[in-house]
Amino acid sequence: MKKALIIVDLQNDFMPTGSLPVPHGEEVIPLANTLQTYFECIVATQDWHPKNHGSFAVNHPGRSVGDIIELAGLSQVLWPTHCVQATQGAEFVKAFTLIPTAKIFQKGCNPTIDSYSGFFDNGHTQSTGLKDYLLACQISDVYVMGLALDYCVKYTVLDACQLGFTTFLIEDGCRGVNLKKDDSATAMQEMRLAGANVVQSTDKKILGAF
Ligand SMILES: [Zn+2]
Repeated sequence: MKKALIIVDLQNDFMPTGSLPVPHGEEVIPLANTLQTYFECIVATQDWHPKNHGSFAVNHPGRSVGDIIELAGLSQVLWPTHCVQATQGAEFVKAFTLIPTAKIFQKGCNPTIDSYSGFFDNGHTQSTGLKDYLLACQISDVYVMGLALDYCVKYTVLDACQLGFTTFLIEDGCRGVNLKKDDSATAMQEMRLAGANVVQSTDKKILGAF
């Protein structure tokens, strides 16, 4: 049994000074740094949009941030412009020290569909390669942390469960964006129902004391 740590979207635009701030998102950075010590396989996801991405409100004249539209046949929340490829906002937070052997998976590169999960786009039509990478590394257990709990973390966890990985959500390593105030609580419920195990970073399992 081998375990991987999946660190979701610790990027400048999701920090308090970014274009799509996740409240208290900066608080999980120290945890992301220390937890890497306990895993032999580290993966980081990176939201990586072209400027004309369909999830940006600005690309839909007459629409505003928070509106719901249809994109690629799916219900889509419109976001502020964020994590545009090769901009400072898309870079990982400076204080986040990703170990050199970590593997980065970029998502949201296709302008016609959004991609919350680190595994697939929202329509499950295209894979990022994360699943194959984990299988090639003989990973059976994945531990997920990062931003935002109620979007990219949630969808990454749901896909990991569906793909058959034993999946752990590190609750204190996540923060939610909470467009609606109960979004994080609802997301936690959905992840539990899908089979995810909710743990804290202090849990002995994470620290390798099996
Ligand atoms: Zn995005």
